[in-house]
Amino acid sequence: MPIRPQPFNMRCPICNWTKYCQPKSDCFSPNDVPMRCKRCGSTDLQFENGRYLRLKAFLRSHFDM
Ligand SMILES: [Zn+2]
Repeated sequence: MPIRPQPFNMRCPICNWTKYCQPKSDCFSPNDVPMRCKRCGSTDLQFENGRYLRLKAFLRSHFDM
């Protein structure tokens, strides 16, 4: 049985832009995982996992928290 990938966040440490990623398979496509920040253009994104990922991504992206 294939292992279902865990969702994760890609977070920009400069401006706090965060993208919630929930890959459908373990083969990531560029659409699943952003390579650069869509707000400031930085390519230095940090991997984040844990709980409330979707909520964190939503709050940071929409309210700059
Ligand atoms: Zn950024």
